[in-house]
Amino acid sequence: MTATIIQLAYLFAAALFLLALRSLGQPATARRGMQMAAFGMLIAVCATLLDQRIVSYEWLAVGVIVGGVVGYPMGMWVPMTAMPQRIAFSHAFGALAATLVGVGEYLHGLHEHTLTHGQTLALGFEVFLGALTVTGSLMAFGKLQELLPGAPITFRGQNVFNLSLFAAGVVCLLWLVVSPYSVPFFIAIAALGLLVGILMVVPIGGADMPVVVSLLNSYAGLAAVATGFALDNNILIVVGALDGASGFILSIAMSKAMNRSFTNVLFGAFGAETGGDGASAAGGAAGEMVAIGADDAALRLAFAQRVIIVPGYGLAVAQAQHQVRELVDLMEKRGVDVRFAIHPVAGRMPGHMNVLLAEAGVSYDKLVDMEDINERFADADVALVVGANDVVNPAARTNKSSPIYGMPILNVQDAKSIIVLKRGRGKGFSGVENDLFVSPKTNMLFGDAKQSIMQLGAEVKLA
Ligand code: NAP
Repeated sequence: MTATIIQLAYLFAAALFLLALRSLGQPATARRGMQMAAFGMLIAVCATLLDQRIVSYEWLAVGVIVGGVVGYPMGMWVPMTAMPQRIAFSHAFGALAATLVGVGEYLHGLHEHTLTHGQTLALGFEVFLGALTVTGSLMAFGKLQELLPGAPITFRGQNVFNLSLFAAGVVCLLWLVVSPYSVPFFIAIAALGLLVGILMVVPIGGADMPVVVSLLNSYAGLAAVATGFALDNNILIVVGALDGASGFILSIAMSKAMNRSFTNVLFGAFGAETGGDGASAAGGAAGEMVAIGADDAALRLAFAQRVIIVPGYGLAVAQAQHQVRELVDLMEKRGVDVRFAIHPVAGRMPGHMNVLLAEAGVSYDKLVDMEDINERFADADVALVVGANDVVNPAARTNKSSPIYGMPILNVQDAKSIIVLKRGRGKGFSGVENDLFVSPKTNMLFGDAKQSIMQLGAEVKLA
């Protein structure tokens, strides 16, 4: 009876996860999607607590308390701009849990003499991918948090060496399947997994870390699938498969939006040739930036017919989303048509700008994806760039030697005039110069984006 209830609860949770993923595809339904996913997880966890195989509830309670104490502040207080490294950190813990479950199950089977070929395949796979994800995610965290150098660390024959270690791990796994009680091979699988995780991430530059984090997410999902097979747990298989597939699809989508191939991200050591600073390959921007005061910039906005706002990472740093919405309200009261141009990799994670602007109550119909807004720039009187840089860099189209050459960009340069809000001459994420800032159409409003937007708002009111 209990077993039936558990399986029914798992089925319900799996349906909620699928609906949640579907809802996450649209900004308007994304919040509901997250709530559904959280509810599904609660049901799955509660159902699992009914499992007859649970030996002791005391240790589970300790786990819940420690997890809650660590997880709550991470969820509440880590800023959105630090989300990629927070996710990498969480992955490391998730993968550590999968690895430890794999080790525990193997030791249990060893002790009870119940190991089968199929079970060792699942356990070996789980431990190899889990261990790889633990160290890989910790390396990604270190690079994103700037605890480790962001520039790729490379050496001769690195890819061949790494692939050989990976192949050695696979050979040990196959050996273990043939001979499940060969403990040294099980230990070798775990050790090789840990090593491959480090060596795989070391040659990848900080700029590509979010793609790597998403790929590691996919590996953690596959490790969870293997755990599900080893423990005969259906919900782990379903959730792991969803996680594995969505992480993989997201990695591909991010690579595509940056016009990088997957192999180039994993084996290309982006930024190595330029020492982590692509400026030399891109060439410095020729010409001078022309500054503008908030009063003049506000006049242009107030008397424009059509304005396109281009949000970027700087908007997230300045946390200026509420002030931007207030400015938009003021402009709209004057009859200005305002739209937001959303680049798929603006900010530091997919959907970053949508989340920020939704938080400030900007209505979703004003957020227009790159493909749809690009042709509208030519009709815009003003393109207001708020802390964006790489996603509006024309070098991606014109400069073949630029590290970002080929990345799709927003057609800001087609607008009749351009106002860029940034603090100074800082480069973007990829470290390349931006000719847009020295274009004759462009004026720079220097300062923190929040302060600048507040000044613009005050001036638009007076106009
Ligand atoms: P960006 O290229 O990183 O540029 C951000 C700009 O914001 C900087 O040039 C900086 O200039 C300015 N800024 C920083 N703090 C500011 C503040 N408080 N007020 C005003 N301006 C501020 O940003 P982006 O155009 O959004 O491009 C995103 C980059 O991240 C792309 O290269 C993309 O490939 C990469 N990336 C994104 C994702 C993703 O999923 N979204 C994933 C991986 C990689 P100052 O220092 O002069 O102020």
